[in-house]
Amino acid sequence: MLKIEHIGIAVKDLNASNNLFAKLLGKPHYKVESVASENVNTSFFQTCDSKIELLCATAPESAIAGFIDKKGEGIHHIAFAVENIEKEVERLKAEGFTPISDKPKRGADNKLVFFFHPKSTNGVLIELCQEIS
Ligand code: ZN
Repeated sequence: MLKIEHIGIAVKDLNASNNLFAKLLGKPHYKVESVASENVNTSFFQTCDSKIELLCATAPESAIAGFIDKKGEGIHHIAFAVENIEKEVERLKAEGFTPISDKPKRGADNKLVFFFHPKSTNGVLIELCQEIS
């Protein structure tokens, strides 16, 4: 694992949270991106070495809507940047972590992404991501 690429935070109102995090971090988000397949809008803030990703549901069936119903707004996942996502997925499967899908898929921010279930990681959803070159 290389580093924490970003921390994903589930929010109810993307505009309100964009303003809040702009105040907190002292600078505005640098992009907004919709991931239609996941029914979410995302926005990104750069911090020194990693990012904050705000996630807002666009439909009731979105995983983010389900998360907020259950737990309220808050940290949704931690994403680690990896150089070879296929290899890292295989390593973690072999270590007994529970994958959420079969293989990496395209996520926000020009990344291939893969998730491991929080029940196998002390309650924290883990994302692996690899920059698409
Ligand atoms: Zn993420």
